[in-house]
Amino acid sequence: MDCVTKEEIKKFAQQIGVDLVGFASPDCLKEYDNFLKERENLGYSCSIEERDIQKRISPEFILPEVKSIIAIALSYNVEYEIKYYSRSFGIVSRSSWGIDYHKVLKEKMEKLSEFIKSKCEGVKTVCLVDNNPLLEREIAYHAGIGWFGKNGLIINDEYGSYIFLGEILINKYFEPDAPQKTKCGDCDLCIKACPTNAIVEPYIINAHKCLSYITVKKGKIEEKMSKKMGRRIYGCDTCQHVCPFNKRAKKVVRSEFVPDKLLPRHDLIEILNMSKKEFAEIFGPTSSSWRGKSIIIRNAIIACVNTKEKSCIEPLKNLLKSQSPLLRGYSAWALSHLCDKEILSEIENALLKEKDEMAKKMMIEVLNKLKGDKIENNER
Ligand code: SF4
Ligand code: SF4
Repeated sequence: MDCVTKEEIKKFAQQIGVDLVGFASPDCLKEYDNFLKERENLGYSCSIEERDIQKRISPEFILPEVKSIIAIALSYNVEYEIKYYSRSFGIVSRSSWGIDYHKVLKEKMEKLSEFIKSKCEGVKTVCLVDNNPLLEREIAYHAGIGWFGKNGLIINDEYGSYIFLGEILINKYFEPDAPQKTKCGDCDLCIKACPTNAIVEPYIINAHKCLSYITVKKGKIEEKMSKKMGRRIYGCDTCQHVCPFNKRAKKVVRSEFVPDKLLPRHDLIEILNMSKKEFAEIFGPTSSSWRGKSIIIRNAIIACVNTKEKSCIEPLKNLLKSQSPLLRGYSAWALSHLCDKEILSEIENALLKEKDEMAKKMMIEVLNKLKGDKIENNER
């Protein structure tokens, strides 16, 4: 008799609050070799993706004795009504509401591993959530967690696509579950709704155009993309928001993913003024903090410009003296959009003190633009 069955594992997982469990073969990723090469050649992969294709498709690099992968999913489609927001707000993606999901999933997977180990001798496991090179969505697909939507996400009939995925690599064999066929049919709502046309064809996403990636990307963002960010300060939910399977998805009561200090519509001025300590308090417990304070503030600055929010002007002037060159450059850029010519002298003064090449370049660009506009205005 088997030391533990799939049904026993599923039952225990349910008891500890895991919504979905499935089983996949460790070889299920081998077929994605060409897909990844093609994606790389087309320039659709982004800088946060692992470049070594073999690492992406080989779970045995992480656990050499791996015989199965247990895929789990946890819904973050919590009952929560967005009641409060100020006039100047930035939007935080649902995946960053509440406590960092990496922590929540890891705890549950560790409990599940301990359960299996208590039943079977010599079992080895490795628990993974997101921060590993393996193709997580493809594992979830092969484990029958859900099917691929045209937006490239895994959709479950009951929970939709607002699900976090995790994997347990294990040196014990379990019969793999069956993958499910897509149910998108003729629908193309996500493709039409995507603000940047990042869904280049059904199921194929160009990460360089996707705002989920762009909002966490380091450095300067191309101006045409920053305009598309709108109020987004972390992530993008648009292609999930329009999906009919999410409209009818089951809501869950899960206090971990209910927003706490970081609000789904967070005040931009508060973000622009944030100290290191305040960043740690507001963003620190959530999954949006991993890229650091400057990236979030940069996105908030962009949101101020996109919403023409004049109340951001004073905090932006303070940011001209920020310790971060990125923020000094971005605040000059934003002020040039939100102020009249009177801001010229403040940016010129900031430029005189500026030592960083990128910040200098941004300031010179905005000064040229402002001066150019001035000539035009004088001519009229
Ligand atoms: S997350 Fe946003 S930008 Fe990315 S594909 Fe979906 S709608 Fe487009
Ligand atoms: S919006 Fe429509 S096409 Fe896009 S993933 Fe959902 S069902 Fe599929």
